[in-house]
Amino acid sequence: MGFTLLKTDIDLPPYIKIKHSKRAKHLALRLDSQNRVFNLIIPQGINLHKAHKFAHENESWMQKRLSQLSSPIYFNNGIEIPIFGKTHLIKIDHDEKLRKTNIILNNNELLVFTNKDDPDLRIKRFLKKEMRNHVNALANEKANIIGKTINKIQIRDTKSRWGSCSVSGGLSFSWRLILAPYEALDYVVAHEVAHLEHLNHSKSFWKLCEKLSTNYNDGKIWMRKNGHELMQYR
Ligand SMILES: [Zn+2]
Repeated sequence: MGFTLLKTDIDLPPYIKIKHSKRAKHLALRLDSQNRVFNLIIPQGINLHKAHKFAHENESWMQKRLSQLSSPIYFNNGIEIPIFGKTHLIKIDHDEKLRKTNIILNNNELLVFTNKDDPDLRIKRFLKKEMRNHVNALANEKANIIGKTINKIQIRDTKSRWGSCSVSGGLSFSWRLILAPYEALDYVVAHEVAHLEHLNHSKSFWKLCEKLSTNYNDGKIWMRKNGHELMQYR
């Protein structure tokens, strides 16, 4: 007596993650580009079989979307990354005997002396610090022009916003802007500083934003068209 293992028709491809939702009204496939997966949103009362069928019907569309995502870039030895708009070659010198990681940024290289097998987190922390120093100076310089003071500047790893301005005069920026062309970083800083004067996107706001930017058009267009590329750094 034997039995056959049936391959059921409800197997899902590995790039789909099931999410049950109480609020959702319809079946949906939502792309999580950071993790390169689709979340299959299943509302209450929809049976799993129907949800799987829906996912299968959209397989070729999902595969196409995934193939269009730019491939991730890791801060590995020999990789070139832009820092403040200039190409830098990452050179990692691994030495067990070192007691801590030391990172030096020169004109065209990022030199990493480390005892870590994977100094990725150290590199990110270093870039964040560089970004903080630079943005502190740049934002204050722009705020001075309009006679405003910045309460506090925060550098974060935000997923959807590159910068923000709070009512209390605090500014926040994504550390990833250090990897954008310089005019794009400059534009985002000008944008948030201009919000110290206008907490809206009125005509006068955009006029001030342009005045505070070094290259308003190129910076703004780059962020709109290519901003998402900053997420490919891992
Ligand atoms: Zn704004």
